[in-house]
Amino acid sequence: MLEVKNLCKHYGGIKAVDGATFAVERGSITALIGPNGAGKTTAFNCISRTVTPTSGEVWLDGERIDQLRPHKITAKGLSRTFQISRNLSDMTVIENVIVQSRVEGIRGLLRPAMSAEERDKAMAILDFLGITRIAYEDGHNLSYGQKKLMDLAALLMSDPKIILLDEPAGGVNPTLMEEIIGHIRALNEKKGLTVLIVEHNMELIMRLSHRVVVMAQGRVICDGPPEMVRKDPQVLDAYLGGV
Ligand code: ATP
Repeated sequence: MLEVKNLCKHYGGIKAVDGATFAVERGSITALIGPNGAGKTTAFNCISRTVTPTSGEVWLDGERIDQLRPHKITAKGLSRTFQISRNLSDMTVIENVIVQSRVEGIRGLLRPAMSAEERDKAMAILDFLGITRIAYEDGHNLSYGQKKLMDLAALLMSDPKIILLDEPAGGVNPTLMEEIIGHIRALNEKKGLTVLIVEHNMELIMRLSHRVVVMAQGRVICDGPPEMVRKDPQVLDAYLGGV
């Protein structure tokens, strides 16, 4: 469904992504892992076109998307979350969910006027995630975990086919991690969404993913089922700083 071919993103002499090639199969949960600085978030940014790749190609459903603007990519069915929540603290959760789904550059936006249709859709998504009780809570009252769930809700407003999750369980407690695992699994199994996930939590990755792509120093060094990747000497070496 998603194909990344020879992707490069260079910042001056820094090769953040350096010829990465991998694919995400339709209906799968694929994890993108690697040590700090491996280029995972930069790869995400290139795929969603938050940054412009230096070279390489990204294909979605047989169509090249690396030259499209971010909102066009969203319209084609690819949405992503960010490592840091884009919570606008002076808006309620439901306003956040709606406004974040509308535009690519969200800073400085006014409180959105909601159509009944948008509100109903947002409420149905909050319900799916079990957070309708915080729909009218102000952004600045949210816990860290609630922000993570709100970001997930915003992502679903665009009816994506494939979602890119950047550290969805980063810094959350074990109870919330279980909840997030449940939501991701439900989105994959019940709603048929394809998932690409960057996450440092190995337990989550091993339990959730069908396939794991490992990056180190901007390149893909291993790609396969979790049990295989876990034992791969190059992967073990990369995590110990040997690559
Ligand atoms: P982490 O797991 O720590 O989030 P990562 O695998 O997501 O790491 P990236 O954040 O993609 O790695 O960074 C890859 C490399 O590119 C790092 O060396 C980082 O310092 C560098 N880098 C990323 N963004 C920029 C930028 N805007 N300007 C310069 N260098 C950058």
